[in-house]
Amino acid sequence: MTDRYAVIGNPIAHSQSPFIHAEFAKATGEDIAYERLYAELGKFNDVVDEFVAAGARGLNITLPFKGDAFRYADELTERARAAEAVNTLTFKDGKAFGDNTDGVGLVRDIVDNLDFPIEGQRVLILGAGGAVRGVLVPLLEQRPAALTIANRTLIKAEALAHQFGPFGAIEAVGYEALAGRTFDIIINATSSSLSNDLPPIPRGVFTPRTLAYDMVYSKGLTPFLARAQAENAGMLADGLGMLVEQAAESFRIWRGVQPETRTVTNLLRDLLA
Ligand code: NDP
Repeated sequence: MTDRYAVIGNPIAHSQSPFIHAEFAKATGEDIAYERLYAELGKFNDVVDEFVAAGARGLNITLPFKGDAFRYADELTERARAAEAVNTLTFKDGKAFGDNTDGVGLVRDIVDNLDFPIEGQRVLILGAGGAVRGVLVPLLEQRPAALTIANRTLIKAEALAHQFGPFGAIEAVGYEALAGRTFDIIINATSSSLSNDLPPIPRGVFTPRTLAYDMVYSKGLTPFLARAQAENAGMLADGLGMLVEQAAESFRIWRGVQPETRTVTNLLRDLLA
């Protein structure tokens, strides 16, 4: 019998996950069906319970339900517990196992696909929301020379630095404190690009060696990547590779097979063009 999976969110119509998992299944010969699930706010548990009762094997979770999935899980991996957010649920033996693959997806995209080491580099993350929470443990595991979080609302960056302190040292700053400093990797994990906006980064933080990475993906350059390009950053990347890599890690957790990602990322890039 075909095993059933889905991605749940609100809204959900835009999700590329069904396409990505269908491509993985085709390439690996795995027999799966993968659909989109919509849930009204406050109805996450009901919709998931119904899907599980129908024989579902796993679920990806996108905005705004990663916290609901965290609370729904019976058991959690360490990275999901630290993130307090779950993007992958596996249903097995009457239990829901929660994991968070966003951070692994980001790290694999940077280290493997872009061939840019994180170890020993000075990393700056812009933003202190759910996306940052999800990626901090895997980023710190790469042993960067230093990790700085800049956020508009400083107290949120400070809270993350405190909470994730046991996994490694994090410096929390406001944007103005970035003046006169440079970084090797700058990750835009704010949602500013979605409103065609730019976080208030001072000029001069990029160097010709800097990787500028926007977690948002888009057809053209996001405002953040356009600024990085104007300041001659060494490498520019958007979050499409991360999206495919986090999906690949979910697929591996569910099926025990590591799918090849580059072809799918290229296909998706063409689709979005
Ligand atoms: P949240 O709503 O939890 O957090 C938003 C963050 O962006 C906050 O830190 C907020 O700052 C900051 N922000 C918003 N607008 C601006 C602005 N104009 N200038 C400066 N800072 C701003 O969102 P998430 O963390 O969940 O998501 C962030 C982004 O990451 C989203 O665009 C999402 O699409 C993307 N993402 C991509 C993934 C991928 O696979 N490629 C995976 C997960 C997320 P403040 O605290 O001051 O309000």
